[in-house]
Amino acid sequence: MKDSDIEDAVARVLSGYTAPKSLEATVTKALTDLAKPGTQGCVREAPKPADPIDDIIGGILTRELGEKNCSCCKAGSCTAPANCLSIPDDQAETVGDGIFATMDAAVEAAAEAQRQYLFCSMSARKRFIDGLREVFLNPALLERISRLAVEQTGMGNVAHKIIKNRLAAEKTPGIEDLTTEAQSGDDGLTLVELSAYGVIGAITPTTNPTETIICNAIGMLAAGNAVVFSPHPRARGVSLLAIKLINRKLAALGAPANLVVTVQAPSIENTNAMMAHPKVRMLVATGGPAIVKTVLSSGKKAIGAGAGNPPVVVDETADIPKAALDIVNGCSFDNNMPCVAEKELIAVAEIADFLTAELVRNGAHRLTDPAQIAALEKLVLTEKGGPQTGCVGKSAVWLLDKIGVKAAPETRIILIETGKDHPFVVEELMMPILPLVRVACVDEAIDLAVVLEHGNRHTAIMHSTNVRKLTKMAKLIQTTIFVKNGPSYAGLGVGGEGYATFTIAGPTGEGLTSARSFARRRKCVMVEALNVR
Ligand code: NAD
Repeated sequence: MKDSDIEDAVARVLSGYTAPKSLEATVTKALTDLAKPGTQGCVREAPKPADPIDDIIGGILTRELGEKNCSCCKAGSCTAPANCLSIPDDQAETVGDGIFATMDAAVEAAAEAQRQYLFCSMSARKRFIDGLREVFLNPALLERISRLAVEQTGMGNVAHKIIKNRLAAEKTPGIEDLTTEAQSGDDGLTLVELSAYGVIGAITPTTNPTETIICNAIGMLAAGNAVVFSPHPRARGVSLLAIKLINRKLAALGAPANLVVTVQAPSIENTNAMMAHPKVRMLVATGGPAIVKTVLSSGKKAIGAGAGNPPVVVDETADIPKAALDIVNGCSFDNNMPCVAEKELIAVAEIADFLTAELVRNGAHRLTDPAQIAALEKLVLTEKGGPQTGCVGKSAVWLLDKIGVKAAPETRIILIETGKDHPFVVEELMMPILPLVRVACVDEAIDLAVVLEHGNRHTAIMHSTNVRKLTKMAKLIQTTIFVKNGPSYAGLGVGGEGYATFTIAGPTGEGLTSARSFARRRKCVMVEALNVR
């Protein structure tokens, strides 16, 4: 960097800013140091988080110089490839940038990072989180991680994963989620603040691998924690890539190194080692019943975001054409993998035929031939009646093709009318197969929906214009998310109001997790002072 560039940058930083002389000198010195040979590239040495003035300067430098030093990430002509944000696919799993050979090393590094992070200001935290959002909102990267997730897991669909990843980056709450309570009186002033747990162990699913990493990283870092991720082994490559990208961005922004880490070879053994490590103070499991039960038996503070089996009820007062379109959209979203997606349809008999016709009009393939239904059961169910892993997250066209049915390419879901005890109804398949159960009236529909939700307290959907019945179902089913007259994904924040989360904790009650879910309430008491009433 030329001296004139440095002077320009200093002038820009300080214009309109009445900086003390000492600050001007410090900024100039820091800029000069950064321009020395060997310090250029995407990532600068993380400054030791200490003096708040360093933090201010860090922020100013990042804004002023970050983009210049990171031109390689944008232009693809990196002079320091080891530090570049454009990591080749085959380098995602190498040690470095938050990836460790052993779980013990990963946790120790995260614990040291979190100790340093305690001394970073809230504005620094915000800057780091804004940086993560920026990384994952890059359209080329969104496409890349979404495509890799589909290729590596064999599940889902790229276009919908782009929507989900973008949603996680854009609408996961940051530090604004941490609100302080204050009580004042004759005895002084008390503050109750939301403070970090320390190192959190976060276990992530194969169905939303990068979405959960983005969402958890933002929320957990916002609350002042470091995170050790334990991704699903099937989503290893893309999960490690996301974690590396996070580390490189954090390093470029001057954050303590290793705030977000994982191991090179995620496995059940490594997850168990992570859960047992004394320096991991909280566990967050996003996955099926087994892992939720495991973290809840760990003896540590745990959040369990478990399975769902969301029923969708349609009564005779609903706008049937709209309900049909919403149901097909929600049920086919990412090939039905979201835990919130419509898994079984309960329709009042009076409108069931009309609804069926509208579903077909919107891309449902209706299967009525008993032999074809039997073939589908054989294909997608295990001997125990659960979903065949190889069929989870596959498209309707793929599933139909496997049973010898050549469906139109625009086919989006498979519709089958069944009894209420059929495994397609009872099990969480995570495939675009929608069983329809016909019932006599809306009250029967609501009662059945409560049974089929299995007490997961996850998600339910209802299409009705009868406010009393909507209220009745919402009260009785007790789900964390209840969507009225919309597709299930409105509950995630796609086309619905509210923030996004990919860790929906029904079993442990946090519900829609966000930064405050990953924080402890701590009390700071100032005795006999600062009460000014
Ligand atoms: P899964 O339970 O098979 O795996 C989830 C994670 O737990 C993975 O990282 C896996 O490696 C790990 N794991 C599983 N069993 C373990 C054990 N005994 N010991 C240690 N680690 C273990 O689930 P999945 O197939 O990846 O994801 C789908 C499930 O997750 C569905 O049931 C879905 O509803 C649920 N899910 C829930 C939410 C939510 O927010 N509630 C979000 C996404 C997915």
